[in-house]
Amino acid sequence: MAAGAGLAGAASPASASVSAEPSPTRSGVLVDTTVCIGCRSCEQACKAAHGMPTQGPEAYEDDAVFDAPRRPDSTALTVVNRLEAERPFFLKAQCMHCDHPACASSCIVGAFTKEESGAVVWDTSKCIGCRYCIVACPFQVPAFEWGKALEPRIMKCDFCAPRQRDGELPACVERCPVEALTFGPRDELLRVAHERIKRSPGKYNPRVYGELEVGGTSWMYLSARELAGEALPKLGTRPAPGVSESIQHGIFAYFVPPVALYSLLGFLMWDAKNGPREGGE
Ligand code: SF4
Ligand code: SF4
Ligand code: SF4
Repeated sequence: MAAGAGLAGAASPASASVSAEPSPTRSGVLVDTTVCIGCRSCEQACKAAHGMPTQGPEAYEDDAVFDAPRRPDSTALTVVNRLEAERPFFLKAQCMHCDHPACASSCIVGAFTKEESGAVVWDTSKCIGCRYCIVACPFQVPAFEWGKALEPRIMKCDFCAPRQRDGELPACVERCPVEALTFGPRDELLRVAHERIKRSPGKYNPRVYGELEVGGTSWMYLSARELAGEALPKLGTRPAPGVSESIQHGIFAYFVPPVALYSLLGFLMWDAKNGPREGGE
């Protein structure tokens, strides 16, 4: 297998520190769906890198897997689907590593963080299992280990953050035999994407999916046709956290008065029983 595609200057050891605004040097991946051959080597490499069983219910060489669309779940952090169109094409799906991640903003205990590297990662020790992140994600990515009785986890692509910290490429990028996946600084990937569009206007749809969606994502797509509203959700340019935060704040706005009321009633009951009395009252 050929080595994966990385731009010059990419795959430098990533920092694990976190900031409110995405780092200007954050990395990303450009997925060129016009190059992808649907071999699913990326799926296999991802599972191997995460210690998951590499042989799923479907054999990797069995094309029947493309008969029904799949979503990333707790057993596969990335999946490749075949999209039926005039000219069928393959589309790899995983967490988009949003610049303003709704999963992070919806998490009330701060279990999700956007790292300087661009990766949106999840801390199992903080998670309380509320599953707000599953509801908040505009790409329906985080998956819960429903089948696990003990300590079920939220599962999603971690952008191979530990590999990046060691200066390695994400496993899927490294394994892709046709360089359909290019890893590098996000700004540089956008430049490359628009250059490809300019060079081959008949080959590519003029828009790069992920450049602007929900305020920008670290994973971006080049394709022959418009993906928004077809293969991928049609979303505005406003960061999704604005939406999820207002839902969350709405929930708490309704939650706080009953809590305050119960606290007040509790205090009055306690006071009625134990409070100081004057004149035998
Ligand atoms: S795609 Fe979903 S899970 Fe991934 S960073 Fe964005 S909001 Fe979070
Ligand atoms: S970046 Fe890593 S975790 Fe994400 S899909 Fe690729 S191999 Fe899987
Ligand atoms: S390894 Fe590359 S060519 Fe094969 S399915 Fe994944 S992205 Fe497509």
